[in-house]
Amino acid sequence: MSKNYQVDVDKHRELDLEGKRQSIANHFARIIEDLGLDLNDPSIKDTPQRVAKMLVNETCNGLFSKPPEITTFPLDDSSSRDLVIIEGIPFSSLCEHHFQPFVGTVTIAYLPGDQVMGLSKGARVLDYFASRPQIQERLTNQVANYLFEQLHAKGVFVLINAEHYCMKVRGVKKHNSSTITTAIIGEIDKNQILTTIQMK
Ligand SMILES: [Zn+2]
Repeated sequence: MSKNYQVDVDKHRELDLEGKRQSIANHFARIIEDLGLDLNDPSIKDTPQRVAKMLVNETCNGLFSKPPEITTFPLDDSSSRDLVIIEGIPFSSLCEHHFQPFVGTVTIAYLPGDQVMGLSKGARVLDYFASRPQIQERLTNQVANYLFEQLHAKGVFVLINAEHYCMKVRGVKKHNSSTITTAIIGEIDKNQILTTIQMK
């Protein structure tokens, strides 16, 4: 795996996830106390465990798991070898600067070599890299690099359009702004992709 997307999965995997959930719950209980809230309140008493479970099992789970295997299918001579575009894949991730969600949609396009991937695989790769504290720019590159390597594609293009809750609920409080990031690897025509998407 290239350094670009590799996390120290092995180091994390040695840690027992139940121990990690318990440790995070203990820390989060202190945060609740520091906020002056009552941990005996029936509505709040299980919040530390809920937050720990959410982080370890869901929103940061990509830190503790391996990247998905990509099933590919050989292209025969009768199949198109032109662009494959998968559009509007929804995702959510966690901004590493504020631990607030950012949510949006992703377009993945690739120019096949001799293989195509199962259609759900782009979404799985996206979910894997999104399930950890991220910045949108890095997420875009990680998805593109991983697909490029795994598919032996001639080129890959990834576009992410997302709204960041750290911009909506704090700071500048700009509710309707969105951020678009793109990554291009190999020989792929960005203009052809954008024109194809707009022609629909
Ligand atoms: Zn942020």
